[in-house]
Amino acid sequence: MAILSDQIQLIPPFCPNPRCLFHFGTNLKFYVKNGFSPTDKPPFRNQRYRCLECKIQFSANTFGLDFRKKSEGLSEKILHYSLNGMSNNSIARLLKIAEGTVRDRLKTMSRQSVLFEKENYPKRISENVAYDGFETFTHSQFSPCYVNTAVGSHSMFIYHNTFSPLNRKGRMTNEQKCKNQELILKHGLYPQNSVYTETLYIMKNLSVLAQGRTLYTDEHKSYMRAYRSFDCSMDLETISSKARRDSSNPLFPINRLHNLYRHFFSSQQRETISFQKHEGALMEKLQLMKIYRNFMNPKFVKKNRFDPDAHEKSPAMYVGVASKILSFDEVFGVRKFKSQVTLDQKEKDFIERVYPYSRQKIVA
Ligand SMILES: [Zn+2]
Repeated sequence: MAILSDQIQLIPPFCPNPRCLFHFGTNLKFYVKNGFSPTDKPPFRNQRYRCLECKIQFSANTFGLDFRKKSEGLSEKILHYSLNGMSNNSIARLLKIAEGTVRDRLKTMSRQSVLFEKENYPKRISENVAYDGFETFTHSQFSPCYVNTAVGSHSMFIYHNTFSPLNRKGRMTNEQKCKNQELILKHGLYPQNSVYTETLYIMKNLSVLAQGRTLYTDEHKSYMRAYRSFDCSMDLETISSKARRDSSNPLFPINRLHNLYRHFFSSQQRETISFQKHEGALMEKLQLMKIYRNFMNPKFVKKNRFDPDAHEKSPAMYVGVASKILSFDEVFGVRKFKSQVTLDQKEKDFIERVYPYSRQKIVA
């Protein structure tokens, strides 16, 4: 693998031209060195290359996460701070950068992480899966939503996070009712079957990979409806939400994950002012947490009596898609191209930040 922190050792892993034979990587030496271009930061020069096949020119920077970014080397810090409870604003002040820079790097990393995940996703799931929604909101309490999460029962590998907008319900003051009506008149209602459609998407995906395994959910009606609406290869077992929420509960992996979201996202703490301002930001943060927990951290921080390897193995190692806990450079070191992987519509929408029912303007 190419090492970017040390540009001299960089080996171009593929040709950046999507129409080139070598776009998808090769062991052949498909390039020649092609001089240097000056840069204004150390080491003050940037190695250039030319592809022998398609003749396009590219440089060492082409493969870096900070390609065409003004300041380099911030992403790792931003990732760690952001996924350990700091708000974007605090990170910006700590690193003496603009808050927009923090948002920009999180966005870039989340997109990269989708491409990384696509290439490193289990081909088969040989464990039971727990599935449930995480209730939160974006922009204001008038836009509540569900994040539908699927987590491996044993590995705690996060398989899916998808977004379902909800219409505000429950007790409201008269003033809030007026405001809610106003918003509905202006924007229309959120689709009322979004939990069903997202659940169906996840169940269909899991059904292909986890044949004969059990899917644990709570007794949400939309889950039952989604499960019955197609020929699912998994068994469904529903757990009462009144059941004790300890580690013997089959939904424990989900409950634990949702606790971690509350703990590690400044945006998910009660009464916070750093809540997510729009759907894109929320989903990108969750996407990053998915990669961070699946690949870059052990399953549990502390030693576990029942699972002696848990403090040394990442969830990705449990499901067999990694052989060690990955470093930041191993995940984000080489910039991947959209044209190198086949994405489904949902993944494309994620990268383009398409949220058709959003009441906010989201800049892609
Ligand atoms: Zn080429």
